[in-house]
Amino acid sequence: VAPATRLFQTVLKKMNEFEQIEQIRRMAESKRGIRLDETIVGIGDDAAVLRWKSPHLVVTTDCQVEGVHFSFKTSSAEEIGYRLLAVNLSDLAAMGATPKAVLVSLCLGPTVDAPFVKKFYSGMLALARKASVQIVGGNISRSKHTSVFDLTAIGGMHAQPLLRSGARAGDLVAITGTLGDSAAGFFALKKLGPRARQRFGPQVVRHLRPVPRSEFGPRLVGLASSCIDLSDGLSSELHHLAAASGLGFWIDQKSLPVSQGLRRLAKEFNQDVSQWVLHGGEDYQLLFTVSPDHWKQVEKVARLTQTPISVIGFTDKQNANRGRGRTRRTRTAPSVKLLRVDGKTQALEAEGWVHF
Ligand SMILES: [Mg+2]
Repeated sequence: VAPATRLFQTVLKKMNEFEQIEQIRRMAESKRGIRLDETIVGIGDDAAVLRWKSPHLVVTTDCQVEGVHFSFKTSSAEEIGYRLLAVNLSDLAAMGATPKAVLVSLCLGPTVDAPFVKKFYSGMLALARKASVQIVGGNISRSKHTSVFDLTAIGGMHAQPLLRSGARAGDLVAITGTLGDSAAGFFALKKLGPRARQRFGPQVVRHLRPVPRSEFGPRLVGLASSCIDLSDGLSSELHHLAAASGLGFWIDQKSLPVSQGLRRLAKEFNQDVSQWVLHGGEDYQLLFTVSPDHWKQVEKVARLTQTPISVIGFTDKQNANRGRGRTRRTRTAPSVKLLRVDGKTQALEAEGWVHF
């Protein structure tokens, strides 16, 4: 065989899409993957075919973009794959849906090679297996510039989904887990590089491998009145709930759950804890409202699923739609108020989360 042909064959072998898909299919269908009863056709044909049993199909999509959501410098291939699935499962959990199947579309930038794809899928399959989710299809393409990894997640539910708009005046505002760890972990990674993994392990893990609340979310159905997951940070998400429900939200700063590790990290780098806690993004916790009558039951399902929860405030119609009937311009937007540690009250503005 001539050298040129040999080279051509090697290149083909290295980056052959069919072969890669075949490899992914083998991985997804090995004991690392999940085989759903619903799946009639999985990876390998033009489209997946699912036998759908749940009354409601809940579908979401979210992508991870190189240089925006992750960097190859701070994340491993496994972590990027894991995270792509985690952020989508978090959205399903926020609706109260149980995840079932996912489609994965990869646009591979010039720095990505075939072994990367294998590691990426093994990271994703580790979470898929835990969450009983099957990878039923996808696509691989080359990209001339950055890498973009996109995922569509499909979930099912038997009851009414948890919406952002369902909160009622007098509800409790509650949250799972602790706040700000992901942003703090990201900060540590940027400051310390790989050393951050040893020094501030829990925060770094929360950033690179967030745990979607896939078991707790569906159990909030029928108990919580509204729900959203924290991708942009507490302040932004509170404003989303306030706007959707037309209510005022009061948040007690003292009751916001903060980890010891985050406090230590903030102290060491002379950073403001409350900035991370109030505005740091990508925590992927669930923020929800619940009538006080249902709180005992919420505590029960939290224990059952080993989910830490805290009440952080309440809703009030006092601020809601004040000025209704006036012109749009003079209407006061539903507000989010923070009862500060020093006893003063301030408006909590929504601050967007800047990834990189
Ligand atoms: Mg969301």
